[in-house]
Amino acid sequence: MQFSEFDLDNKLLDAINKMGYETPTSIQQQAIPEALQGRDILASAPTGTGKTAAFLIPAIQYLLDFPRRDPGFARVLVMTPTRELAYQIHEQCELLAKRTNLKIGVVTGGINYGTHKEIFEKNNDILIATPGRLMEYLETENFHAEHVEMLIIDEADRMLDMGFKKEMSRICDEAKNRRQCFLFSATLEGDSVERFAETTLNDPALLEA
Ligand code: AMP
Repeated sequence: MQFSEFDLDNKLLDAINKMGYETPTSIQQQAIPEALQGRDILASAPTGTGKTAAFLIPAIQYLLDFPRRDPGFARVLVMTPTRELAYQIHEQCELLAKRTNLKIGVVTGGINYGTHKEIFEKNNDILIATPGRLMEYLETENFHAEHVEMLIIDEADRMLDMGFKKEMSRICDEAKNRRQCFLFSATLEGDSVERFAETTLNDPALLEA
């Protein structure tokens, strides 16, 4: 199986090539076609399986298929538990989106608030965020999640273990106009991930790396 067998924009295929990805990993083979059809996804995929590209590739394709009409807030939101992960996702996202005009921002703790103000003013298409700091921006109305069209929850089990249930639920509630949601988790075992997935996803494709 080749990346060129998916219905992807040449700009995206080119970037994938340049990154040296030759064949899609198992989770990518499963997730990309389901996501491109507009389905919600519930995936058990630990780090190392290529899960990041599995959600970023369809997200970028979605933004290319449905270009932004008006300037505004992020249309794709990626929630991830730690700063380190947020910056890793950002790096992959910049590489995958290199040949597009899409703008990508990161919002995590440990960065001063002035820098984030600039990020929100830049009309990012994709925002990658840790839940604690993003909640603060929801409360101060610097960020409006109702503009989010695609919501991606990365490492859901870890985020729940870290005690972010309240923040995650609030962000999911506010992102109520979303068309699509992906939930990735190292494991889907455990009541809390199951319950969270049930309330967040709509008839998801159930995938395993
Ligand atoms: P992840 O599971 O998202 O943390 O990805 C693990 C590593 O695999 C990262 O360094 C990616 O850049 C790399 N990777 C992702 N997809 C592919 C692929 N299809 N072929 C080769 N490497 C990949």
